[in-house]
Amino acid sequence: APLLLWFRRDLRVTDLPMLSEALATGRPVMPVFILDPETESIGAAALWRLGLGVEAFAATLERMGSRLILRRGPALDVLERLIAETGAAGVFWSRSYDPATRPRDEAVKAGLKARGLLAQSFPGFLLHEPWEIETGQGGFFKVYTPFWRVASKRPVPPSLAAPAFLPEPPAWPQSDRLQDWNLGARMRRGAAVMAPHQRVGEAKALARLEEFIGQRIGAYGEARDMMAEDATSGLSENLTYGEISPRRIWHAGYRALEEGQAGAEQFLKELVWREFAWALLHHTPHIAQSNWKPDWDGFPWGMESDKAEAWRRGMTGEPVIDAAMRQLYVTGKMHNRARMLVGSYLTKHLMTHWKIGLDWFADTLTDWDPAANAMGWQWVAGSGPDAAPYFRIFNPATQAEKFDPAKTYRRRWLAEFSRDPLALSYFDAVPKSWALDPARPYPRPIVSLEAGRALALASYAQRKA
Ligand code: FAD
Repeated sequence: APLLLWFRRDLRVTDLPMLSEALATGRPVMPVFILDPETESIGAAALWRLGLGVEAFAATLERMGSRLILRRGPALDVLERLIAETGAAGVFWSRSYDPATRPRDEAVKAGLKARGLLAQSFPGFLLHEPWEIETGQGGFFKVYTPFWRVASKRPVPPSLAAPAFLPEPPAWPQSDRLQDWNLGARMRRGAAVMAPHQRVGEAKALARLEEFIGQRIGAYGEARDMMAEDATSGLSENLTYGEISPRRIWHAGYRALEEGQAGAEQFLKELVWREFAWALLHHTPHIAQSNWKPDWDGFPWGMESDKAEAWRRGMTGEPVIDAAMRQLYVTGKMHNRARMLVGSYLTKHLMTHWKIGLDWFADTLTDWDPAANAMGWQWVAGSGPDAAPYFRIFNPATQAEKFDPAKTYRRRWLAEFSRDPLALSYFDAVPKSWALDPARPYPRPIVSLEAGRALALASYAQRKA
């Protein structure tokens, strides 16, 4: 009897323990992707990008003599139906760790096991399982540096090679057509503009890693904060959909470290920030929805407002903030330094709740990652573990001078000051209802940096009192 391989955020064939273990059983395998309610509820851009990933992955499988069966519905129902149709012995999958999908996976495992079927989950999304990195007392780390110290010393299992082919079952069950799922439906006008900025699939992810290690890792330490430069790996997009394994990235970075490449340790540290974020989400799942430190619950952040909307639209009148928000809308990504600046500006100068920012990122990022997003927002807001102290308020103007000294980043994204095709493409990407026009003058600042800073500090002082 064949095995069903339930693919989710692990759209690859290289270094995938679930796949190697399945092949080791000697059974034919049937890869399946399920559009279940949990998957369908992710943000618009992430769901659209997931669709591109599924399409690329199906093509990879076909080249290996296999297929990707697409089905829609609650996961356990779909899997049980497929088992009934094919006589499969059970289901293998790679573990997920977020609070939105863990209950689903537990129910699937229990449901299949109750019927005497094989139901096995494997690692594959992280370097280490989130419960494996412990303090000396057996607890979990709430601060990054000691986490790094332990995580960086822990051996990472070697990468597994891709199989040459996948053994086919005697017959294939029916599959939905990907186009019929219309995964871009919630994207409105953005998809055509965003498409050229995505690097989809396993082959492109591996090429991206090679290119980064071969050409850019040496300068990564100094250049990674410069917003106009393409100095980082860009791998977050591929990691999100499992198009590359973090272990493979770790080994490549480690080899660069051993070869004496200057930026290699910093790069490995960033990869371990991702691990830290997932460990936090595992141990304190409330980080995704509410203040990690509950003493922030009464903080007088505003919710929806015209200011929040101006922030989302890249129309605050603060050039580096608007450049970043427009980069996000066009590419589905934003430079890390810019993420920190727009987050600080929203939660401090605009005194707006970090959840407004978290939700907007979740809806517009194509590298959306529930753990990194939650940790990032609570870090900038001050409510999270190991967070920036609240009184340290980034000044967007001085940050821009430092990390975009030649104004290249701002000109690239602000059509009011340049005719850069990227800047203009923003106006094609946004919904018509926003009525934005690059010919209109650039907006005046919606808050003065001094007044915004003073108000945020006053609210903070009150909280302390
Ligand atoms: P590189 O600099 O090449 O780093 C390599 C890898 O390390 C990244 O791909 C990523 O997996 C990991 N990494 C780097 N920085 C961080 C970090 N601060 N936290 C966690 N992991 C990190 N990252 C996401 O992947 N998805 C998100 O939804 C997300 N939301 C964020 C929200 C805020 C408010 C902030 C401040 C940061 C957020 N980040 C998020 C983290 C970071 O900005 C991105 O991971 C990074 O910009 C991705 O670019 P890169 O792949 O070129 O990174």
